[in-house]
Amino acid sequence: MDTGVESNLVSFVTGAYILAALLFILALAGLSKHETARRGNAFGMAGMALALVSTLLLVLQRFGDVPDDTSVAVGLVIILVTMGIGAAIGIRLAQRVEMTGMPELIAMMHSFVGLAAVLVGYNTYIETASLHGIATDAVHAGEIFVGVFIGAVTFTGSIVANLKLSARMKSAPMMLPGRHLLNLAILVVSAILMVWFMVADGWPAIAPLVIMTALALLLGFHLVAAIGGGDMPVVVSMLNSYSGWAAAAAGFMLGNNLLIVTGALVGSSGAILSYIMCRAMNRSFVSVIAGGFGSDGAVSGEARDYGEHREIQADDVADLLAHASSVVITPGYGMAVAQAQYPVAEMTKKLRAKGVEVRFGIHPVAGRLPGHMNVLLAEAKVPYDIVLEMDEINDDLPDTDVVLVIGANDTVNPAAMEEPGSPIAGMPVIEVWKAREVIVFKRSMATGYAGVQNPLFFKENTQMLFGDAKDKVNEIVAALG
Ligand code: NDP
Repeated sequence: MDTGVESNLVSFVTGAYILAALLFILALAGLSKHETARRGNAFGMAGMALALVSTLLLVLQRFGDVPDDTSVAVGLVIILVTMGIGAAIGIRLAQRVEMTGMPELIAMMHSFVGLAAVLVGYNTYIETASLHGIATDAVHAGEIFVGVFIGAVTFTGSIVANLKLSARMKSAPMMLPGRHLLNLAILVVSAILMVWFMVADGWPAIAPLVIMTALALLLGFHLVAAIGGGDMPVVVSMLNSYSGWAAAAAGFMLGNNLLIVTGALVGSSGAILSYIMCRAMNRSFVSVIAGGFGSDGAVSGEARDYGEHREIQADDVADLLAHASSVVITPGYGMAVAQAQYPVAEMTKKLRAKGVEVRFGIHPVAGRLPGHMNVLLAEAKVPYDIVLEMDEINDDLPDTDVVLVIGANDTVNPAAMEEPGSPIAGMPVIEVWKAREVIVFKRSMATGYAGVQNPLFFKENTQMLFGDAKDKVNEIVAALG
């Protein structure tokens, strides 16, 4: 290719990369509020399209440089075909996935990023070693090693997260004896292998890389397997952060600045989100990332006898609501499963029309992904100003007539405050039992995601409304007239 055209193309791609990086920053800023989330998504899509097109242009330029080299053409065809297959699978999955299945899909996607970093690492090593007959310089070797390490941890960690979130693996923490020592030993051995890898020459250097990969795969599995159900939200955002760092490491290996910037953005925003979630759930950040530190000895409250529960029917709930002056609704995962947000919005409208004050109390980890409830309520057009955070609603609960717990369980469990041995001990909860009357909508007496029994169901001021949340709310709406 003509050198002038070539340098123009390189400048164009550099400019496009900077613009794409800016679009990604705007995407993150947009996604921080519901009102601007759509715009944020649009910025992200535009940035990604720009990044893909510019990278393809770089490949085409290489093609132009060596017109006789059919391997470049073959490479280009492979890229386009794989992009086509990836896009087809992505579109199909996005169309099919339910909101409730998002966290496991996200976990699966993180595992792909991890796997990509491992493959890029091996490829870079093999390419350099075959071209030059030596491993590579020490700094580059370090980049490869760290990239493969983070990628492998992310890969197996995300697979375990996917299995736990989709209930194909038990959500209870796996407690191996000496598990922290095991993690530490893997880290120390990997550090020693890294030194070996950086100083070794030629093909023997692949040995420490392969051993470390096996150890890192084991570490990823073990770190996430050791984390219990209630702490999974933090794991999802933590793996998001890891996948960002894995992508940044791949960027260093490939010498691709945009990948480094994007990876760093994802890595740091994931880390900030994990930190915020840990604070919201009163968990120590270090404990959670170290793989369930602090969950030792936690016993489930399931075996306890909390006494009898009382039942109520939808007509009686409608009557109770019509005569209340203040009502708080605390939704959870069950509202999402039942898709009850639309009748809930309808019921809210009817009650407000009757002069009843209705507000929503949202727990930071209600549902199966951060902001899950807010998205559902916004979708059903519940006004934002009556949707309050846990901290904003808790003080008002003692003066509330009726609380409707719609498909929430762990997030309203008093055991978190009253039972120090509980796996969810210390996690802040919405203190619904302080209200005059509590109605719990669920289908059975089954436990929530964390697998812990809920003493709320047996309190004197609690009544259970059994059945699918959508059906029951519809019955209440009908009874309200
Ligand atoms: P829970 O998972 O604790 O409880 C959900 C409740 O909904 C269950 O008691 C279930 O009872 C009920 N339910 C399910 N389907 C229906 C239905 N169709 N109609 C009526 N009720 C139904 O939910 P919470 O939202 O209270 O708590 C979230 C939990 O998930 C926490 O433990 C959190 O740590 C964890 N988590 C959160 C993530 C996040 O990012 N927010 C990510 C991963 C996990 P029944 O089966 O008897 O009907």
